[in-house]
Amino acid sequence: MKGNMKALVSYAPYDNRLEETGIPSAGPGELVLKVLGCGICAGDVKSYHGGIRIWGTSEENRYIEAPVTGGHEFFGEVAEAGEGMGEYKTGDRVCAEQIAPCGECDFCRQGKYWMCTGSAVYGFKQHIQGGFAEYIKLHKNSIIHRIPDTFTNEQAVLIEPIACGMHAVELADIRHDDVVVIAGLGAIGTSMVNLARLCLPKMVIGIDIKEFRLDMGRKYGADYVLNPAECNVAEEIHRLTGGDGCDVYIEASGSPRSVSQGLESLKNHGRYVQMGVFAEEVKADWNVIGDGKELSIRGSHLSALTFHSVIEGIESGLIKTDGLISHSFELKDWEKAFRTAEEEPAAMKVMLVP
Ligand SMILES: [Zn+2]
Ligand SMILES: [Zn+2]
Repeated sequence: MKGNMKALVSYAPYDNRLEETGIPSAGPGELVLKVLGCGICAGDVKSYHGGIRIWGTSEENRYIEAPVTGGHEFFGEVAEAGEGMGEYKTGDRVCAEQIAPCGECDFCRQGKYWMCTGSAVYGFKQHIQGGFAEYIKLHKNSIIHRIPDTFTNEQAVLIEPIACGMHAVELADIRHDDVVVIAGLGAIGTSMVNLARLCLPKMVIGIDIKEFRLDMGRKYGADYVLNPAECNVAEEIHRLTGGDGCDVYIEASGSPRSVSQGLESLKNHGRYVQMGVFAEEVKADWNVIGDGKELSIRGSHLSALTFHSVIEGIESGLIKTDGLISHSFELKDWEKAFRTAEEEPAAMKVMLVP
């Protein structure tokens, strides 16, 4: 397309620049969207701080192809549809899943596209620039979803993070007799309380160190909320379960000490799901897993065939979104937005509006 746009480009840790750049054009199989909103992920904040998962320890193991426009929690309206994309009309509101799979690796061929070994997540690679910009080009391999007319901009931005939470909850195989613990009540964790509740388990417990988030957890259906800064969480969970411990512990905080806390809180044969991303290596007593409790440890990565269910769930009202977007900033105020996401005690998901 003709003209220029503003884009927030990541050059290096602590070096994001709001730049003027050309608006992309849609080639065959591609769409160009006018971005209407893009959420700031914990991963974006960690990337800004030079997170090792993203910047690696050297050029060789670096994930991010900088300089690149960030942002993978975007949605927008179609501004240009490339050849073969005639089903999309100008103004249609859509989002794309955060990964543009290669389509050729074993995982892609088996339909497990979220584990694509090419791992191309929007906002980290040159060929899939992100949504912290006025326009974004959707790569031809993108998995595109239409956004219902009834959705607010906030709800549209929440689709991606909630889809990641739904994947983690699905991996927990929640049964009706289960006590489920969600550790970390950010926007995703709080939504996971909602999603876990929809499985009708015996009890849902939320954990966070911020009072505001504990309130959100309660509002979203947690039977109990616990603050590790104020109590011994594992002891409390044992007390609340008559000494047994919990059946499921979903780690969504990215705090290393939450891992041991989870292993301690689980009962024999419990399921531990790792969803949060750590900034550092984690130490824990692995004997608890094998010789102790025979636990199942499961990892959760991105979202897996969950976007459609999240969209239907929000549309039907089963999936709540109230208050999950706590702040919205214009793209030019990105610094303030990142700081808010990181430091503001009442921050949940913060979004940027170009
Ligand atoms: Zn994200
Ligand atoms: Zn692949």
